[in-house]
Amino acid sequence: GGRKKDFNILVIGLDNSGKSTILNNLKTKDTKVATINPTVGFNQEKINFQSVNFNFFDMSGQSRYRSLWEHYYKESNAIIFVIDSSDRMRFVVSNEELADVVNHAEIKNKDIPLLILANKKDVKGAASENEIKNELEINRIKGRNCKVYSTNGLSGEGINEALEWLASEMK
Ligand code: GDP
Repeated sequence: GGRKKDFNILVIGLDNSGKSTILNNLKTKDTKVATINPTVGFNQEKINFQSVNFNFFDMSGQSRYRSLWEHYYKESNAIIFVIDSSDRMRFVVSNEELADVVNHAEIKNKDIPLLILANKKDVKGAASENEIKNELEINRIKGRNCKVYSTNGLSGEGINEALEWLASEMK
């Protein structure tokens, strides 16, 4: 087999949506993971997934670091946006956050896929994939492939399927 390809994946979403939990869940299934120590404003995780290497940039942290994140926009091959599908109070804020990133000058005209993880699907009253599509106004996102998957960051349910889609988009 040939050498595995590396892809840089920007992981964004509000605090508490489950970004770190999802990445941790992936890590435990992958013994070859290399964890780079946290730098100010984001974490980097390298995870082998099937035939590709995903280099995740977890942009956790306060928006005061946003000016730092922007340096990584240019190099990114895909975006993962995580939303807490049980936190209806903050759907509007999530929508704004996603819009800020996809409309950013460095992202706007880049034909890179967008994977939305509707996390915490296990919580009673969590919004469905279709509700999340409406709340995040996915129909307004043009020029890139976009898909919503419901996930449970704790059990890992839904994550594999979602990453399989993402890997299939990485050509
Ligand atoms: P981050 O700020 O986006 O990195 O969020 P964290 O990964 O720190 O998760 C925030 C909280 O949500 C933690 O207490 C997690 O245990 C919890 N959490 C994450 N994913 C899920 C999930 O799918 N279901 C439930 N019930 N809790 C979750």
